[in-house]
Amino acid sequence: MIIYCTSDSHVQETVSFAQNCGFSISVRSGGHNYAGYSSCPSDSPQCIQVDLSGIDTFSVDILTTPARTTIGVGLIMSQVYSSLLSHGLTIAGGVCNGVGVGGHYQSSAIGYLVRSFGAGIDNVKSFRIVLADAQVHVVDETSDPDLYWALLGGGPGSWGIVLDYTVDTIANADAPHTKLWTFLYPYSRAMLHALGSIYSSEMADPVVARDLNVLLMIHPGVLFGFNDTFEHYILVRGLWTGIDNGALDGALYTQYVTPWESIPHITLAPVTALPVSMVPGLLASDWNLGPFRYHIHAFAQHPAVSAWPDADFYDKVADEVDIRLAIPYLHFSLQLWPFGGSGPGSQLNRNAGKNAYGAREVTNWVDDWVFFLFDSQSAIAEERISAFRNATGHHWEEDNIPHSWMTPDTLTSNTHTGAADFSMNESWYARLQDVKTRVDPADLFHTSMTIPARASASAVGDPHLRNIHGERFDVMQSGWHTLLEIPRRAAAQRALLLVEAEARHDGSACADMYFHSLNITGEWAEAKQKDGLRFSARSSDSTGSTWITVGQVDLKVTQGHTLKGIRYLNFLVRHLANAGVAIGGLLGEDDHTEAATPDHLCQRSVSLLEQPGVRGERSARSASSAEASFW
Ligand SMILES: Cc1cc2nc3c(=O)[nH]c(=O)nc-3n(C[C@H](O)[C@H](O)[C@H](O)COP(=O)(O)OP(=O)(O)OC[C@H]3O[C@@H](n4cnc5c(N)ncnc54)[C@H](O)[C@@H]3O)c2cc1C
Repeated sequence: MIIYCTSDSHVQETVSFAQNCGFSISVRSGGHNYAGYSSCPSDSPQCIQVDLSGIDTFSVDILTTPARTTIGVGLIMSQVYSSLLSHGLTIAGGVCNGVGVGGHYQSSAIGYLVRSFGAGIDNVKSFRIVLADAQVHVVDETSDPDLYWALLGGGPGSWGIVLDYTVDTIANADAPHTKLWTFLYPYSRAMLHALGSIYSSEMADPVVARDLNVLLMIHPGVLFGFNDTFEHYILVRGLWTGIDNGALDGALYTQYVTPWESIPHITLAPVTALPVSMVPGLLASDWNLGPFRYHIHAFAQHPAVSAWPDADFYDKVADEVDIRLAIPYLHFSLQLWPFGGSGPGSQLNRNAGKNAYGAREVTNWVDDWVFFLFDSQSAIAEERISAFRNATGHHWEEDNIPHSWMTPDTLTSNTHTGAADFSMNESWYARLQDVKTRVDPADLFHTSMTIPARASASAVGDPHLRNIHGERFDVMQSGWHTLLEIPRRAAAQRALLLVEAEARHDGSACADMYFHSLNITGEWAEAKQKDGLRFSARSSDSTGSTWITVGQVDLKVTQGHTLKGIRYLNFLVRHLANAGVAIGGLLGEDDHTEAATPDHLCQRSVSLLEQPGVRGERSARSASSAEASFW
């Protein structure tokens, strides 16, 4: 189900509806998440995709210093840049026209101004958001410092539905020395080495860490309208803002521009002065390559490898380029983006601590785009992307980069496996989980890449089930019940762990309900035993007093019997916290109202169940039970 919202109240009503009817929510604004995490997971029928593309509000407050703009999440970046330009302003943001504000200012919003002004998310002053309580909240650094920190970079789509962001703008006076140039060089291995060495030395120079941003990209000629269809070129785009060193002339020009000019090139744009407000809009593009599709993998230099790209790295790039150029009907764009900088560092480095954006210490970022004409080439594209990644693995590293936004493999569906997925600082993961648990404990806003809520209570059933919130209840409906589902709302075929138990009436009283059969399936169980583990009260196959480790948790299934000899099963699970994801099922976060409601024949006598001794054969000692603990 997709709900298109065009106002605050639409969003609020949708959140209420989802809460009341047991749906999860996946949020989409511009739809530019690389791996589709703004869509409902294909195996989650109980999910609503909330589309915000109709929330296109825009305003500018020129009375503040700096001026601030409030941008609706449904706008795309080309609309934002052009609307601000008419005020002589711009904001830090990315280089793609079609990217949506909603996800962009939770993910990164990194573009040409990153070294001078930081990431777009660093410039967000506040945002309006509908949280799980269906109310509109205005969040800034003082009203809710943790949520403000977490939402800006900590896992888009995890917290609530953002309606708009208020962002500090950049005025022309903030960078009056702005100059831009674009040169193109025919690709060759020798050329890559020559240009790469200039790039690495200039970008490593701390003196110009905020003044100069050079992009080095190996691009197909068709992107520039050339007819030599499969030739590739090296594009070098320089942007000087002069924040620390002023105008680009004299010795500065000789040092930072002349090396590029002295190698024969095609001048796409000479060194030209222009207002900084024009830069993001002028340079943003659509990456529209006719009928071509693309796969992209973005990865970054590991902070432990502090050096900028060296000759060995450029050799590995050239090896990969040789292979790709030999594949018919394939284009690619390998892009080197300088993020950080040594010494005092770029503004991205200087903004460390502002929010949960985790890739600040990275010196260099690589975008690897492979464009292909035929569907059958998609596997080749993925193969080349991963071959390049592996070949350069000693220079570059993806694992410690938060890939909830700059995604991972486009072929696989990912879930978070722990702290390393989120940031380079492990304590961040715990903080993100704390925020999630506070603002969305039931995991309403959920995809496989959202931050999992931390459950808070241990659960021990005696004789009832007791869920992780400490609520005690009896299962009063016969039939099969899901006791545990990890992660929550995973379909049976994708669950890591699924525990289902069959409850049957056995006795004269309504409360004489017992677990007769219990199946433990899912990836973890099947790794232990093909087809999972199955238990019946009639056989003697329970685990008795033994705990068995299944995946990240310990399980125990025991047999009991009543005084009249009715046999039943008990189920125990511990260390659920190790799963690191939201827990579904009656012992987890799922609603137990229906399972705990007596059927109509029993309803008149149900109140007696609460009276000690009036429980048919049931007693605290002889009852089917299930207990779960987090630790
Ligand atoms: C072609 C292309 C070019 C790109 N170029 C750049 C670039 O230059 N610089 C850069 O930094 N990044 C770039 N990106 C990455 C892009 O910034 C992120 O993928 C961003 O999250 C996309 O936002 P969206 O709203 O378009 O996407 P969506 O797919 O709609 O959303 C992305 C994520 O944000 C969540 N989300 C979206 N809207 C909301 C909302 N209103 N409230 C709560 N959660 C929400 C979604 O649930 C999802 O998890 C590019 C991506 C593509 C595909």
